[in-house]
Amino acid sequence: MTPNVRDRADRPSRAAPCPGGAIPEISWDRALRLIGGTEEVALACHVTPDGDALGSMLAVGFVLRSMGKRVVASFGDRNFAVPRLLRFLPGQDMLVPPEDFPAAPELVITFDASMSERLGLLRDNAARAREVIVVDHHPSNRGFGTLSLVDSTVAATAMLAEQLVYRLGGRLDRDIATCLYAGLVTDTGSFRYPSTTPAVHQMAARLVATGLRTEEIARELWDRSPFGYLKVLASALERVRLEDGLVWTHVTRVDRAAQGLPYAELEGIIDIVRRTDEAEVAVVLKEDDHGDWQVSTRSKGAVDVGAVCSALGGGGHHDAAGYTSHVSEAETMTRFRRELAKARRRSSRAV
Ligand code: AMP
Ligand code: MN
Ligand code: MN
Repeated sequence: MTPNVRDRADRPSRAAPCPGGAIPEISWDRALRLIGGTEEVALACHVTPDGDALGSMLAVGFVLRSMGKRVVASFGDRNFAVPRLLRFLPGQDMLVPPEDFPAAPELVITFDASMSERLGLLRDNAARAREVIVVDHHPSNRGFGTLSLVDSTVAATAMLAEQLVYRLGGRLDRDIATCLYAGLVTDTGSFRYPSTTPAVHQMAARLVATGLRTEEIARELWDRSPFGYLKVLASALERVRLEDGLVWTHVTRVDRAAQGLPYAELEGIIDIVRRTDEAEVAVVLKEDDHGDWQVSTRSKGAVDVGAVCSALGGGGHHDAAGYTSHVSEAETMTRFRRELAKARRRSSRAV
């Protein structure tokens, strides 16, 4: 039976620390008023979306649709395509390519984007919107919209999206829960990262109670890939280097072209590289289809890679962050090492 979230028992207790508790009530109220007064709501998430970005956006899209709103949802990639590993998410009929996104929407809601640059091609559409509600959990988010629903204490934007679902009077069904669960498991590394609080498990319990097939979701997200992935992974691992607590490698466009592998398939490589015992920081440089390096970084906690990546024009979290580099692979690493050294000096002073 689908639990009705209108029943208080199914909601997170207001008395207990509640996901999104850092967001003032007045902001939630304003969001509900803005949404209530708009017939068409345009949803946007960050470019090359992960499970948290796309899952949070589609979950809220379902509720808005059930309220009778017209909903368009998109992300601003030049080559617009849902990454293969997220194609199992329901609600993809809400998606439109960025060129079909309203040019000057009345109301935009953004998901999991820490700054307007992360909206890619949709950045200008958002800039022209009358109101922009920013739903996000990045500590680096300074609030680029007209209303911030930002709480950096939560593990995933999906936790804030769940709050929004409830506050809009929605109920969890299996489709919404699938989308939110994809966000929750992605951003907690399957409940392994330190962000995995009791509130995360409590939310997971609410979602699983709708009848989710969690094993199928896990398989879609992590346990399958085309054969070519293994070949590309092999090239990446052959080149991997360990230097002074830093483990890193790179994957080129040529590696991928040889196997016909899309860029989005590279997401899991960092999770293999970062397991290295001898390294506290892991980096994977991934060349995208335009010849830029998309840099994925991970820390085991001693170093704030979010600060390193912010200094290099990107952003993210303390232990997982990234940025885009337009210079050569060698120069990218030279600049990265320089910023890493500064961050290490800062963290040794802090101890
Ligand atoms: P990834 O390595 O792609 O899984 O990204 C890890 C985290 O870094 C993401 O959740 C984002 O918060 C952040 N991030 C990645 N790429 C960028 C970028 N180009 N600009 C800003 N933040 C980024
Ligand atoms: Mn994300
Ligand atoms: Mn996220």
